[in-house]
Amino acid sequence: MLSVEEALDKILNELDPLEEESAPILESLGQVLAEDIKSDINVPPLDNSAMDGYAVRSEDTTGASEKTPVFLRVIGTVMAGSISQQEVMPGTAVRIMTGAPVPAGANSVIQFENTDDEKRKESAPGQPLTRAGIFSEASLGLNIRKAGENIARGTVVLKKGTVIRAAEIGLMASVGYSHVKAIRRPVVAILSTGNELVEVDKPLPEGKIHDSNAYSIASLVKRHGCVPRMLGIARDDEESLVSKLKQVQDADMLLTTGGVSMGDYDIVKDIITRDGEMVFWKVRVKPGKPLAFGKIKGKDKSIPHLGLPGNAVSCMVSFELFVRPALLKMMGKKNFAKPTVEAILEDTVKNDAGRRLYDRAIIEKRNGHYYARLTGSQSSGILASMGLANGLVLIPEDTKIVNKGETVQVLMLDWNEEVNI
Ligand code: AMP
Ligand code: MG
Repeated sequence: MLSVEEALDKILNELDPLEEESAPILESLGQVLAEDIKSDINVPPLDNSAMDGYAVRSEDTTGASEKTPVFLRVIGTVMAGSISQQEVMPGTAVRIMTGAPVPAGANSVIQFENTDDEKRKESAPGQPLTRAGIFSEASLGLNIRKAGENIARGTVVLKKGTVIRAAEIGLMASVGYSHVKAIRRPVVAILSTGNELVEVDKPLPEGKIHDSNAYSIASLVKRHGCVPRMLGIARDDEESLVSKLKQVQDADMLLTTGGVSMGDYDIVKDIITRDGEMVFWKVRVKPGKPLAFGKIKGKDKSIPHLGLPGNAVSCMVSFELFVRPALLKMMGKKNFAKPTVEAILEDTVKNDAGRRLYDRAIIEKRNGHYYARLTGSQSSGILASMGLANGLVLIPEDTKIVNKGETVQVLMLDWNEEVNI
């Protein structure tokens, strides 16, 4: 049986980043840039004010203080987005708002807080301010943001391969990109298998259960920025499975759940072996041992297929360990590892399986330390325990027992409000 690392290596070896597409920048959140973003403009385009205040000539403010103000004649106002028609001549000032281009002649800005502006407004409300008392000296360039200071014309602001987050989208907007080339999102076909399964919107006959895996797995697919394609439910017979597999068509990956363990009707692995190619089956991990990885024939390409176990928890844990990195690689990302923390275990955990354990746990930070408390029964069908958990406690395959109070590695599933990072 393969270790988690060996299995993951085999999966990643078979996958490459997908091709690029052009998308409106807002659609590209979470994708990876497939081009350098180069600015052909200066940002900001002109020298502008970093403060609300007075644009002045610094030489006019020599000796200014609150006790000995320098008085300047106010010759106009300029707001952000306008160009002042006035030139600041000796003895004059222009009222200037944050972001407004600095008028000709001015070389510094005194913020209102260092002038008598407030006092004048109070003593003569509504009156135009014709004179400003300056309370401090302005050094050359004070409160002026230089043209191109943020981004100089010709600069590569973002490199190909960058993960596009909010700041990157803002940057692209600031240099005038409305569309961007990015690695496209994988389309992931999702198929549940099992005679016992019934769609969520259908009544449950005796002995049947609703198909929940398709929904938890599709949600994880969406959460990682990929596009789920719901294929529904295949019965545990060859005909039903083969006909569903035909619908995979041009998807970039197929995820099935169920039908990969040792039961009489677990035919998924047999069909992959017969009609496609089986790369491996079974991993030394708990939950999630009966994971199958292979390839099936799509419309005109071979499609990677991960046959996830049917148990509701197993398939989600297998997703985190194997599908997530696979999808991230296809999206062109470089870092696949989930964040881990070291936590103090609040329960004793035994490992008789000789496999790597990933136990569901609630991780909390108290007094500067992370603590991990198991969610209760670790039976792999109890989906509610996955709902409680925000992390998976990792117990190595050769460790028989970890006692309460000992330190363990935890794979974080969610950094939620309960985790005070
Ligand atoms: P299998 O691997 O097909 O033997 O399934 C293992 C267990 O998972 C069985 O108890 C199934 O009923 C359950 N199971 C399989 N597929 C699903 C599904 N899509 N939704 C909920 N439970 C499932
Ligand atoms: Mg089954």
